[in-house]
Amino acid sequence: MRFGFDIDDTLINVREQAFHIYNQKLNTKVPIEEFYQIQRLEIHEPFGMDDIEGSKMWQNMEDEIYFSDIQPFPGALEFLQTLVNKGHDIFYITARSKRHGDRTKQWLKEKGFPLKEDHFFWGMKDEEKINFIQELQLDYYFDDSPYVLKTLLNESVRVFIKDQPYNRSILLPRFESWQDFYFGKDGKLYLSQK
Ligand SMILES: [Mg+2]
Repeated sequence: MRFGFDIDDTLINVREQAFHIYNQKLNTKVPIEEFYQIQRLEIHEPFGMDDIEGSKMWQNMEDEIYFSDIQPFPGALEFLQTLVNKGHDIFYITARSKRHGDRTKQWLKEKGFPLKEDHFFWGMKDEEKINFIQELQLDYYFDDSPYVLKTLLNESVRVFIKDQPYNRSILLPRFESWQDFYFGKDGKLYLSQK
């Protein structure tokens, strides 16, 4: 089967890492509890920045954030490795910009993510992502972005949401941990009930 994955904040914990980097750069000590309260993708508000300042800050820090020691979410690596061992195809679909593509690929490989050269797609705006997910004829797709997920509600691909405070209004199967997935005897993917 064909499995598609968003990368940032689905497989790896980018925003939280960025939050620590902001504290270092700005010489602030905004507590991590405030991070967990943020109800949107952007993280600048607890640092007292408006949207324009926040967007500039992100752009300035992007390289440092993306290629720092970001941690995969627990179980993410093992989940993808299991899929490959079972003979499934894995596709990565990310909004990261063209100029970050090659380095992101390299970074993922170094972290141990199974990656085929022609199964990695980057520079995808939300709208393009959606078309692309359809074109790839994925069986399963995993993402955290409320916008992308909302538009996939009526598609045949089975979508799972990586639970985040900013996507809780979307009613699709959601998971907190990659360790919650398992394969049934029928070979299909299931989420264990809490
Ligand atoms: Mg994402």
